Amino acid sequence: MTDYTDLKREVWDRDMCSGCGACVGSCPLEALHFRGDDNPVFDGLCSKCGTCYSVCPRTERDVAVAVSRVPENKESIGPYRERYFARSSDFQIIKRAQGFGVVTSVLKHILDEKIVDAAFVVTSDIFMNIHPMIARDFSDVKKSARVKYIWTPVLSKLREAVLDESIESIAVVGVPCVMQALEMLDRSKLGLYKKKIKLRIGLFCWEIFRHILISEMIHKELQLDIDPSRIWMFDIRHRKLVVELTDSTEYQIPLETASRYARKGCNYCVDFTSEWSDISVGNAGAAKDFLTVITRTERGEAIIQDMIKGGKLVTGEFDETVFSLAERVNKKKKLRIKNFEVREKD
Ligand SMILES: Cc1cc2nc3c(=O)[nH]c(=O)nc-3n(C[C@H](O)[C@H](O)[C@H](O)COP(=O)(O)OP(=O)(O)OC[C@H]3O[C@@H](n4cnc5c(N)ncnc54)[C@H](O)[C@@H]3O)c2cc1C
Repeated sequence: MTDYTDLKREVWDRDMCSGCGACVGSCPLEALHFRGDDNPVFDGLCSKCGTCYSVCPRTERDVAVAVSRVPENKESIGPYRERYFARSSDFQIIKRAQGFGVVTSVLKHILDEKIVDAAFVVTSDIFMNIHPMIARDFSDVKKSARVKYIWTPVLSKLREAVLDESIESIAVVGVPCVMQALEMLDRSKLGLYKKKIKLRIGLFCWEIFRHILISEMIHKELQLDIDPSRIWMFDIRHRKLVVELTDSTEYQIPLETASRYARKGCNYCVDFTSEWSDISVGNAGAAKDFLTVITRTERGEAIIQDMIKGGKLVTGEFDETVFSLAERVNKKKKLRIKNFEVREKD
């Protein structure tokens, strides 16, 4: 029998928590919460049902599951059906998006076509406070466009969506740990979650930053006093974290420096391309003016094919050499597993 104390000992106390929010969003007694940037806290009653433990993608057992998927040559990008270079065909979407609006276009398509009733996305207020949001239509989805490199526990609101009787099917957009947690949910006894979560849209991700990136790093590393409301977006280009302000001024911080502000739990992630998703999207390995799109399931492939045929996505010629960058980054991230092995011997 496991409970939150096992999770605390195995994951939280060892700084391995990915912050996906699955434990918070699945606790039937709503006893787990995030207060700040670090680990969940327990404040309530525990029935020792073991749900929180069973959905965590960072428990020893589940890291073992992840490890077992690391292929021998450590170069695979995980199971897939097709790989594309693609971008949205809608210029208005591209203008708002981080890259070329593939994720926003997929969300628009699946909500318009009623493939799902709602989508889990991430949005921010003007002060760069990031939070998860349940989008029901394109006007909600528009608020989520662009990547917030700042962490938020995406799945912490999951129970709210799953228990909502007006929602029968849900899509989730998230980074690899969120996709891993959805896989754990699928394997757990939580039947309703399994029934309702119909589509996983995974983003490529090396690491995610804590909110102090804004409050501390910009002051310390850039020696700037920037009001968060002036930040238009973050981007990662040529191994630099780029901070772009609303007046188009740009500042750059080497990724090695920015990495000091990443969540510690990211060190235990061996997945760059969101291997447990239906559709994965990222910049790495894409030709100019496109994003890399990987379909991994029949459902994911059918959606992308429909969108291409319907003129909602434009594709370019796929080039193995260009794509190999995604494989190289993926390989590098998989080698991080050594960190975990070292930790095991502590
Ligand atoms: C934390 C993070 C790190 C990333 N790191 C890399 C990387 O190293 N290399 C790479 O090639 N690609 C990375 N990506 C993915 C990449 O930046 C783009 O998201 C991807 O190319 C899709 O672009 P788009 O124009 O289709 O997205 P858009 O159409 O702009 O949609 C963006 C989507 O991302 C979701 N989102 C935004 N912020 C978050 C967040 N904090 N957590 C979960 N979901 C979020 C939004 O809900 C929205 O649905 C990262 C994404 C995130 C969120």
